[in-house]
Amino acid sequence: MKIKSLTIYCSSSQKLNKKFYKMARETAEIISNYNIKVIYGGGNIGLMGEIARTLISLNNEVIGIIPKFLIKKEKLNLKLTSLKIVSNMSKRKEKLFKLGDAFLILPGGTGTLEEVVEVLSWKILKLHNKPIIFLNFDNYWSPLIKQFEKIIENKFGNKNLQNQFQVIKNPKELNKILKSWTK
Ligand code: AMP
Repeated sequence: MKIKSLTIYCSSSQKLNKKFYKMARETAEIISNYNIKVIYGGGNIGLMGEIARTLISLNNEVIGIIPKFLIKKEKLNLKLTSLKIVSNMSKRKEKLFKLGDAFLILPGGTGTLEEVVEVLSWKILKLHNKPIIFLNFDNYWSPLIKQFEKIIENKFGNKNLQNQFQVIKNPKELNKILKSWTK
């Protein structure tokens, strides 16, 4: 499978334990070893900022998608390859979805959750067939993955749900996946 771009969904929080920022930097460093353009929420805060700053420092292509109303709130002093300004959050999600050939989910809050559940639901509905990878660092996403199992067990969703995504435990495991995508 040829993947040329990766959309990353992740936290905008500035108050996380240091280990999460370190994990985000490591993720960006690994991605920069492959020929993959990164698409993300455009901000310079939280894990998003960490990812973007690291990728830029390593000369990786990074495209940010940001809604107008967030531009002022966030310190956008990043030298992104391109910053696309959209009118609202729905337009942002649409662009993040369209521009990525695959999706990587790092730990995050409600914003990240909204994004991942959408791409997952759309995959189940066969609106796309793009890979979805959960980076389950520190078991952060385990309760959600358990909930998916509960959904299947109780027949709120079909067995297919579990085949729609891949789970890795640490950034290093990305190497194997990125290798297979770019070879
Ligand atoms: P959260 O997980 O709640 O921190 O939200 C982060 C995710 O939602 C990112 O993947 C972004 O695409 C989007 N998002 C939500 N809030 C912001 C923000 N203030 N700045 C940039 N992106 C945001």
